[in-house]
Amino acid sequence: MNLVFLGPPGAGKGTIATAMKEELSIPHISTGDLFRSAIKNETELGKKVKEILASGNLVPDEVTIEMVRERLAENDTENGYILDGFPRTIFQADALQSMADIDAVVNFDLETESVVKRLSGRRVCKSTGRTYHILYNPPKVEGIDDETGEQLIQRDDDKEDAILNRLEVYKKQTEPLIAYYSEKGLLKTVDASSAPEKVLELVLAVLKK
Ligand code: AMP
Repeated sequence: MNLVFLGPPGAGKGTIATAMKEELSIPHISTGDLFRSAIKNETELGKKVKEILASGNLVPDEVTIEMVRERLAENDTENGYILDGFPRTIFQADALQSMADIDAVVNFDLETESVVKRLSGRRVCKSTGRTYHILYNPPKVEGIDDETGEQLIQRDDDKEDAILNRLEVYKKQTEPLIAYYSEKGLLKTVDASSAPEKVLELVLAVLKK
């Protein structure tokens, strides 16, 4: 099954995709993670996009589309995949249509106030990408990853100015995709305000319909 996870930053797309990739045995392809990994490895792409990510703006469409095209060409996508954070513009969605058959688009619905609360409390383990929330999903020891024992960090783009910018970018550039995919009959909206286990249940249920 080829899936797209759509929704504002902080809606839980990555958390649910991480749980579902095991359930469905398909890879979780997060464009944000691909960019962060390029930045960490100081590749050419990483150098190009580092400041863009820190600001919360979008990486240019051509760069992003090329990266996704290469990722989708890898062998592990044969039985499907979960695209998380792509497409984020109508231009990207048109490009995706020409390179893949998407079976469903799950729209994670969450109001702005909750988005801000979730993002500002989010902490991540830099080496594994595992995410926590200081209130809703705290690590066993404050500030420390449960498995690696590494210090957790706050992403630059989870700081207040960048959060507000990311929300504006989402509203202007990504939200129109809800109507785009609804018109194509692919959109399945879930209420993303509950705890991850509940949201996972809702997502699996809408996909079975
Ligand atoms: P995310 O982890 O999905 O919130 O993405 C983090 C950042 O990566 C975004 O704020 C953008 O700067 C960049 N990014 C991720 N996906 C895309 C995309 N599809 N198009 C453009 N930029 C993206």
